[in-house]
Amino acid sequence: MSFTVLAHEGAARRGSLALAHGVVETPAFMPVGTAATVKALTPEDLRSIDARIILANTYHLWLRPGRETIAELGGLHAFMGWDRNVLTDSGGFQVFSLETRRVLSDDGVRFRSHLDGSEHEFTPENVVAFQEALGVDVAMALDVCVKLPAAQGEIDESVRLTTAWAKRCAAARSRERTQLFGIVQGGLDERSRERSAAELVALDLPGYAIGGLSVGESRDDLYRMTRFTAELLPEGKPRYLMGVGTVRDLIAGIDCGVDLFDCVYPTRCGRNGRALTRSGDLNIRAAAFARDGRPIDATCGCTVCATFSRAYISHLFRANEMLGPRLLSLHNLAVLAQLMAEARKAIYAGTWGELRDEALLAATGSASSS
Ligand SMILES: [Zn+2]
Repeated sequence: MSFTVLAHEGAARRGSLALAHGVVETPAFMPVGTAATVKALTPEDLRSIDARIILANTYHLWLRPGRETIAELGGLHAFMGWDRNVLTDSGGFQVFSLETRRVLSDDGVRFRSHLDGSEHEFTPENVVAFQEALGVDVAMALDVCVKLPAAQGEIDESVRLTTAWAKRCAAARSRERTQLFGIVQGGLDERSRERSAAELVALDLPGYAIGGLSVGESRDDLYRMTRFTAELLPEGKPRYLMGVGTVRDLIAGIDCGVDLFDCVYPTRCGRNGRALTRSGDLNIRAAAFARDGRPIDATCGCTVCATFSRAYISHLFRANEMLGPRLLSLHNLAVLAQLMAEARKAIYAGTWGELRDEALLAATGSASSS
């Protein structure tokens, strides 16, 4: 793996991340394929929007179809027919946020499957072994994410365990082509974020994620903690803000110096009839679109906007046709992919400040909303 920062404008960075399955130009948004599928989309669709890396989910794949099945079938890339990069999360977030019975100890976390109630345990070691057995390009360390607002004692404990587990994850590594990223925790407390970042940076991992945000805190808190935490991370390593994927949050994240993002938002919206545009979201089911012959977004360069009208997609949703969610998922991911491509170009050209202000004004009606 190598990561090179090619240009800066303020804190914003234009970078290039070379992983085992190709180069990811950053800043980049990673589509989420929880169960080894970006819902409703094929690998060919993802290539059409130039996705270079997608995310899959350790918790879900652990339970179904399981490590043995995927390993037997040649690893996750072969299993899902995707020859570009894959990042898997550690499963920590799901175990801590899903309504699943769980018991936390220094050793790891025991939990019950949401599918059949069977009991499982994640440890730093078995989570790394699982991600390596899948053959992923980036594996995330097992972490402890707290719900906000959290008491200081709870935050302290989550930082302590997250560091201890990251050390054990690092020691458990056995595969050179899988890069281990650590996850900074610390809630909304700056001293805790400092401690978490310092302890993880000391482990000299290939990359770092900002975790424990986008969990219901205010936008001001999200942006403040993202900027604060990004500044604590090494300049020469990729930074990944977990769970962020609206147009305005991506702009804010890029402006804080974040390189990678992921979120289910664009595809979940796509399945629910919500179309992302650079000037706000549209409810495509609305009566106003029933005879609207314009594309979803005239400024969007995706194949959906080149081919279909708002009226047609509105009809598909109202008739419960499966093509509707598929087209809107593809368009929504394309909107974010185009935003990232423009950001990369602008940071390189020194015009990021203009793009940021224009895009924020279009998205929110206010250039200084962050
Ligand atoms: Zn489009």
